[in-house]
Amino acid sequence: DTFDALGLKEKLLRGIYSYGFEKPSAIQQRGIKPILCGYDTIGQAQSGTGKTATFVISSLQLIDYDIVACQALILAPTRELAQQIQKVVLALGDYLQVKCHACVGGTVVREDIDKLKQGVHMVVGTPGRVYDMVSKKHLLVDKLKLFVLDEADEMLSRGFKIQIYEIFKNLESNMQVALFSATMPKEILDLADSFMRNPKMILV
Ligand code: AMP
Repeated sequence: DTFDALGLKEKLLRGIYSYGFEKPSAIQQRGIKPILCGYDTIGQAQSGTGKTATFVISSLQLIDYDIVACQALILAPTRELAQQIQKVVLALGDYLQVKCHACVGGTVVREDIDKLKQGVHMVVGTPGRVYDMVSKKHLLVDKLKLFVLDEADEMLSRGFKIQIYEIFKNLESNMQVALFSATMPKEILDLADSFMRNPKMILV
């Protein structure tokens, strides 16, 4: 299988090849298509499988770049991971000129507000700061197409359950969701039951 076979935008393909990827990994082969077809998707996958590029490529493909509004929102358990994901977004989305902001704790709130006001296509962040920005309407989610939870088990074990549920409450009830988690404890299945519809399950 190849990236060419996924039907991606030309500029996205160029970004992928420039980044040095030649062929999709197993999770990319199995995960990108269902997300692009609009299915809620659960990927049970560890780091090292290529899960980041799975949801980054999917998000970059789904965005309409003529509209400057947040269309993909990615949550991660730590600042470091969120910033790392943002780097992958900016690299793979270089030719698309994607505008992506990292909303993470420990940074100046005013700068988040300014960046969001300037306009973004995508936001990557940690649950606390993202909830703060969403609840205060600095981050508008009315144009959101895809909500991604990365390392969902880690987010729950770090105590972000309430923030995640609160963010969900601000989203349209039929929002497309992609959830990645190394493990599938009951709390994750409960989250999926509450907010996802007939998710496609991918185990790698
Ligand atoms: P992840 O599981 O997202 O943490 O990715 C693990 C590592 O695999 C990262 O260093 C990625 O850059 C790399 N990687 C992801 N997808 C591919 C691919 N299709 N080809 C080569 N390397 C990849």
